[in-house]
Amino acid sequence: MQSSGLRQGEDYVPGWVSDLTSLPNLDEDVLLRELKARYTADRIYTYVGDILVAVNPFKDVPIYTNEISEQYCGGLHSEQPPHIFATANDAYQGMLGKLSSPPQDQCIVISGESGAGKTESTKLLIRQLLQLCQGTSQLEQQILQVNPCRGLGISSNQNISTVKGAKIREYLLEKSRLVQQAGGEQNFHVFYLMLNGLSPQNMEKYHLGGGQGYSYLKNFQDKAQHYRTQHQQLLDAMDMVGFNGEEQEGMFSILAGVLHMGNIQICATDSGEAYVDRSAKDINITAEILGVDSTDLESSLTQSVVRTNKGELIQRNYTVQQALASRDAVSKALYGRLFGWLVNKINQLLAPTDSSIAELQQIGVLDIFGFEHFEHNSFEQLCINLANEQLQYFFNQHIFLLEQEEYQREGVSWTTITFTDNKPVLDLLLARPIGILALLDEESLFPQGTDLTLLQKLNQNVGSSPHFTTGKQARSPLFTITHYAGKVEYNVTGWLEKNRDTLPSNTMSVLQHSSNPLINTVCNGSITRTGTLALQHKTSKGRRLSKRPAGRQVGEPGKKGGKQLTLGGQFKNSLTVLVERITAARPHFVRCIKPNGLKQPNNFQEDAVAAQILFCLPAQLKYTGMMETIRIRREGYALRIPFQQFVQRYRSLGDVAHIPEDQHGCQRILKATGLSDWLIGKTKVLLKWWHTDELASRLQKVEQAATRIQ
Ligand code: ADP
Repeated sequence: MQSSGLRQGEDYVPGWVSDLTSLPNLDEDVLLRELKARYTADRIYTYVGDILVAVNPFKDVPIYTNEISEQYCGGLHSEQPPHIFATANDAYQGMLGKLSSPPQDQCIVISGESGAGKTESTKLLIRQLLQLCQGTSQLEQQILQVNPCRGLGISSNQNISTVKGAKIREYLLEKSRLVQQAGGEQNFHVFYLMLNGLSPQNMEKYHLGGGQGYSYLKNFQDKAQHYRTQHQQLLDAMDMVGFNGEEQEGMFSILAGVLHMGNIQICATDSGEAYVDRSAKDINITAEILGVDSTDLESSLTQSVVRTNKGELIQRNYTVQQALASRDAVSKALYGRLFGWLVNKINQLLAPTDSSIAELQQIGVLDIFGFEHFEHNSFEQLCINLANEQLQYFFNQHIFLLEQEEYQREGVSWTTITFTDNKPVLDLLLARPIGILALLDEESLFPQGTDLTLLQKLNQNVGSSPHFTTGKQARSPLFTITHYAGKVEYNVTGWLEKNRDTLPSNTMSVLQHSSNPLINTVCNGSITRTGTLALQHKTSKGRRLSKRPAGRQVGEPGKKGGKQLTLGGQFKNSLTVLVERITAARPHFVRCIKPNGLKQPNNFQEDAVAAQILFCLPAQLKYTGMMETIRIRREGYALRIPFQQFVQRYRSLGDVAHIPEDQHGCQRILKATGLSDWLIGKTKVLLKWWHTDELASRLQKVEQAATRIQ
């Protein structure tokens, strides 16, 4: 069995130590060497203190068997090799109050770039959480089927816990991926499943061919069998969760309609006005599948109709560019509304039914894109990076500030660990009225505003910030922000349009009269619009039956008092709710790493990993603090328990029967355990994070001995 930490006198073997904070001279090189050595031996999980680092193996590693899953049910963190199941167990035990604090909501934050393994980790976490609840009920099977399902509501009653429901919460869907995919990225998986898995009759019904020939699907990979299996799994999951045949058919017709919509060719007349190339038939097929009149669809895609103040209707022909933008906007809106409808429906089906449950303890699972820094960075990257700044801020607060403040309050002598405070960058982005998002909103309101007037405005208002610079050349659309993880150059081209997030209303009104019942439902306003960013903040929690302030739900990101919010505004709201949620819970961090860009097994590229470690939350080395994090985890006291609570919990470890619930009592118990390195503060006992396991293990032994005696 591998060692969880390096003990005094022990020889150091690379890849053997599972908690890197126990290494004496940890720097970037050592960290990379350790991660590589472990990865090469198929040890893909490593602890850095209480953070779990997971390196994607891109192959099956036999570490998820039922046997191994059982080993992590209730076991102690330090007794087992690092594992995602251990994180599930920690969250579960924490929720039940079996670790050193009272029962508390938990939140597992999974971060990493696309392909790093976030979805897979979420699936494994949920599987293990259900295993911990020993659930085999219909509900639990349904939750397992909902992939990815982002959270559980688990009711806890001392030692008994059952899953009561689950809820997916959609923060912002990455809708722009639908119409264009960066680099080698794929479109949403469901399209590949559909094209490979539909029966020949359905393929014919929806006028679909193979994967080639759809302008929305650039990177079609030939993995027919894989997608066919997944398609079947999707159908089974929909059956299991409770979608009926008509709903499933409606979903596929929207997906097929969207694919055909992307193929509609727009041409220009000699005078530059847009018209649809009817010889290609795509418009007819799209109209047929979406259940609308093809002439109506055509005119709605090529003309705008505006009502003047006097009530007259004026028709204006689009240019080709406007018509293409309108076509793509409708596709994104349809897809977004379908997604919103699916999420709502799943939530209805999986909602807790027992209305007498006053309060559910919850485990939320949040998965978030890591920091993005491409050659070309647009509004989507700004939002993703803002989310990462926000999480970094939360992480700093959680790990450094609050912890060190508590040492001060408890009168513990402590050399303050400095860290880079990223509040100024958050303010640069979020402050009102003078922050980048607020200024963008302001400029989006001006009909005459352009991307370059936006840039001028930014320059005038935030140009003096040390974190903001613009290019030297006149009319350059570029500006740079110095984020916690490094400098990123953004290009403002298209930002006003993206932020306004307007929808061609005449096309929506054509779809509202569709003969397809599901299109009718999703286009008639019962589903709120979602954002269009290349961003996924997917988290959820079980339905909380206690009162939360109304109107703060994220299910309605697009509206505020009936007014349409800009995309930036929707995003900001989502972020606020997100932070509220994670602040209220005990966090666990899982950092997923992609060892190479080729998705290959057994290929650990140091450069790629170093960049992710440098650029991603929470594990960056140089910029904000992996080293500081490691130090505070090594030297700090992660557990701070009030005297009374400590005595009540660990009384049986004391050497006498009557132990006062004060600092003397705590001291007495701790001395009797023989543990070292703890401190007694003014109101609390301060423990190193590994003390939890030691205490729990002793408690277990005492309880077992007591049972034997009885
Ligand atoms: P993300 O959600 O971060 O984009 P995914 O979870 O979809 O990434 O992972 C991408 C691919 O990597 C998966 O399809 C799977 O093939 C592989 N993968 C991820 N995690 C694991 C794992 N723990 N074991 C084996 N393969 C994995």
